[in-house]
Amino acid sequence: MGCRLVRENNPSWRGGQIVKKCTVCAGRFLVYPYREKTALFCSMLCNNRNPVRIEKRRIKIRDIHKERGRKTSLDKTIRHSFEYKQWRTSIFERDNYTCQICGIRGRDLQADHIKPFAVLLQIHSIDSLVKSLSCNELWNINNGRTLCVQCHKKTGTYGRKLTTKQYENKRANISR
Ligand SMILES: [Zn+2]
Ligand SMILES: [Zn+2]
Repeated sequence: MGCRLVRENNPSWRGGQIVKKCTVCAGRFLVYPYREKTALFCSMLCNNRNPVRIEKRRIKIRDIHKERGRKTSLDKTIRHSFEYKQWRTSIFERDNYTCQICGIRGRDLQADHIKPFAVLLQIHSIDSLVKSLSCNELWNINNGRTLCVQCHKKTGTYGRKLTTKQYENKRANISR
């Protein structure tokens, strides 16, 4: 009686799994048949090291840097514009060149955006100086106040580019 060794009786039986070769390290690994075509790597480590993934990650990082650079240069362009200088002067004049927190007058004054500048750019999808000029909220002098540098630093938005989400979280914390 010729009894062929099948399944678990056969030493090369792998529990229904198929041997595959890792496309990164060339090591062998087992997969169930349904993954025969899609499984390319023996481990997460090899998956992370695979060239396609590395390239995707590189592009993602490059895009983040590009976007950051674009935002910074738009920020500078607007802040150096004639309209911005006019906005700032209007705030100073209205506040009689006096810090609205400590009352110091005429020294190291800055115009603070109550609703942060970066947030306004984001919620109004402003991506150019031209677009910024038609945004009333951005140039509303009621959104500005005169602060001295010392008081400005204590506002928590000084020198920081808060995202809209961070700003909203901050506001939620304050009103709680
Ligand atoms: Zn591998
Ligand atoms: Zn002050």
